[in-house]
This record gives sequence, C-alpha cells and structure tokens, in this order.
Amino acid sequence: MNETHDPRRISWVESAQGTTDFPIQNLPFGVFRSDGRGDPRVGIAIGDQIVDVSACAHLGRLGESAATAAAVCDLPVLNHLMELGREHWSALRREVSLLLTADSPAFRADSRLGEKILVPKSEAELLLPVRVGDYTDFYASVHHATNVGSMFRPDNPLLPNYKWLPIGYHGRASSIVPSGTPVRRPQGQLKDPNSDAPVFAPTRGLDYEMEVGCFVGGGNALGNSVPIEAAEERMFGLCLVNDWSARDIQTWEYQPLGPFLAKNFATTVSPWVVTLEALEPFRIPAFERASGDPAPLPHLDSRANRERGGVDVTVEVSLCTAGMRDAGLPEQRVSRGRMADLYWTLAQMFAHHTSNGCNFQPGDLFATGTISGPGKDARGCLLELTWRGAEPLTLPTGETRKFLEDGDEVIMRGYCERPGTARIGFGECRGVVLPA
Ligand code: MN
Repeated sequence: MNETHDPRRISWVESAQGTTDFPIQNLPFGVFRSDGRGDPRVGIAIGDQIVDVSACAHLGRLGESAATAAAVCDLPVLNHLMELGREHWSALRREVSLLLTADSPAFRADSRLGEKILVPKSEAELLLPVRVGDYTDFYASVHHATNVGSMFRPDNPLLPNYKWLPIGYHGRASSIVPSGTPVRRPQGQLKDPNSDAPVFAPTRGLDYEMEVGCFVGGGNALGNSVPIEAAEERMFGLCLVNDWSARDIQTWEYQPLGPFLAKNFATTVSPWVVTLEALEPFRIPAFERASGDPAPLPHLDSRANRERGGVDVTVEVSLCTAGMRDAGLPEQRVSRGRMADLYWTLAQMFAHHTSNGCNFQPGDLFATGTISGPGKDARGCLLELTWRGAEPLTLPTGETRKFLEDGDEVIMRGYCERPGTARIGFGECRGVVLPA
C-alpha cells in the first residue's frame, strides 16, 4: 500500500469526490476516442472525466519511469503499457494520482490544467482496451460447478479433478467486444432429448455468465512456467466479463471436448481495467477449503497466496427488458455474488495455466468462470438462477424469464468496499440481445 490508496486523498476533479466508481484511489486504465483528441488513446477514469495520459506527458512534470509509461499511451491499446512491467504501471499511477490531488502543485500552478488533460466521459467513446491475443475461461466457483453439475449428474455433481486443479477451456479472443456492443442471438444445432436428430435454429437458451477477467501484463516465454510466487507481479488488472452462453447449443456439442460454438459468438468486457495495485486494500485470504478437501499441490500453493490470494470484489447483475424500457421502469438486479467465493485464486489459475510451459503474451486474458456463491441470490447466470428454466424469474412488468429474450439488456457491475478505505468500482459491462 502507498499514498495512492490513502482514503483521505481527494481530487480537484469534483465528480471524483462524491459517489462514484472512480475516486482518485481507483485510476483504472482504458482506451477512448473523442473528437477533440485525435486518434484513440489511453485514458484513466476519474469521476465522470477521462484523463488523457498523453496530455499529462506533455506537461513535462513526469519522472523518468512514469514518462516512459506515458510515452506509449498515445496508442489505441494498453498492450504496450502492459509490456513495460509493474514498475512503470505503478510509477504512472503514483504521478497521475499526485497530479489529480487537491493540493497538486501542477493544479495550483495552472488553473487551466483540467482543460488540458481531462475529457468528459459523456463526450468520449470507450473502446476495447486491449488487443487480446489469447483468452482462457476458468470454472473457479465451486458453487457454480456444484450447481451446474447437480443438474446434469445429481449423484455426482463435482468431478474428481475439481479440487486438484483449476478447470478451464480455451476461449476465443476474436469475438471479445467492449461493453455496449449489441450481441446477436446465435444459431446452432439444438437437439431435443425426445428427438433423434438436431435442428439448426436460433438458440432458445441464451444466457449470460457474470465473471471477472484478469489481463496479464508481463508474459512468459514458451517452455517457461510462472511460479505461483511470481504470478501476481505479471498481472496488470481486472475487468468485468460477460461470457455469453447458449445452453441448448452447449448441451448438444460439449461432449467430449467442452464448450465451442455455445460460447465463442461473443464475450463482453468492461472498458476500464482496474489495476491489481488499486485492489491492494481489498486483498483477502484464499478460499478456506473444507476439512477433507485436498491441500493444493506445491506448485499451486504459497504462503502469500493462502494469506492474500483472494480479491474481495462484489459483482452484480441486472436485467432490463424491452418491456421494462417501454414502461419507463428501471433495471432489476437479479444477483449479487463475491469473488471471495471462488475456490481458486487468480495466482493459482495463472500458475496452473503456465505450469506446462504454455506462454502468455502482454494483453492475454483469463476469466474466472461464473461467480456464484452459496446463496440463491448469488447465482451468476440464468441457468442456475432459474434452475434450467424450472423456476423462471419474474420481472417488474410481470414478464418472466427462463433465459434471455430479444431486446433484453444485461448490465453487470463490480465494486470493492471495506471500512477505512475508499470504495472503488469497475463501472459497467452492458450488452443488449438482438434477434437472430
Ligand atoms: Mn464462463
């Protein structure tokens, strides 16, 4: 922890002082486009404003390490910044924080500082922040795995490998889209259990999965593994992820090789990447395993991971149907879960992923899998919330949902709060369903 986490630190940016996901203690990175600012470039969220990092560099006030980082911020992706490594990310964060504090020397010296470095978020478009080379999705919530497993294998919900290794599959990077991108209902092969042959038709089981994604900053060479002790220093930051899923396509196609077309038609990410450093005040011990559960093998275990491997992020999902919008009704929250309920930590997932020598490049993304908790209201997808459609949700219009209908918008949010610290948030991850 350092001065950037100090809950007493306030910014001269007024909108960063009240209720906001983006107080001065957060400073997440993204990529934005704005008419007055030229090509897409790296920005940092503060209140309802975006800091143009390149413009900060032009002030001539940054030290060497931060200036090196700012020099790659006139580019349309975060990959180059990620590649520089933690020392540079951290230096840039420290200096931008200082620039934005209420008693900043730069602000006192220049009453026009705001005009020079800030862009109102309302005048900017937020883009996909990272060029994602590879994307992996895990299955780290034991509650999700047990719920889903019990629907298909009531006597044996959790397979024998679950508590020994973080289960995952390789997702598809090309269909990752930023928040706000509409998602078209996919078509695929659907097979009714009572018929002999499948049909090709629009999915009738469109679902979301509430997840958190981790962008890897520093990679590893092919053939080298990243030990669990070194895993976190390579992680740049976290975002919200909606792993859109077509359950009926999935049911028919998934055996024996796992998810394929049921998942790769779209994955939505939130535009702001909250750095691991900003999350430092919210670190918690790794999941406490039940007595009788196996201890992790040595390459998935460390004292630091046991003591601080968890991140206490709360995630929420809301729905807003076309009918609700027409009636002027607000969105309806349908679940609230916590990353603290994940069986595996980010460091364990990353160490496991590289344990065979698999290489990561700057900007590669891995996601946690659906974040579900022990309670019914903590189920992070409709498959679980409606128990495969057996218990439909009822919305304020009287409409019911087993799975998503055309026009439905899924809105995901995440935040961290703890007494004695400044609350920080992830912003939103949104997507509306278009007809097939
Ligand atoms: Mn998933």
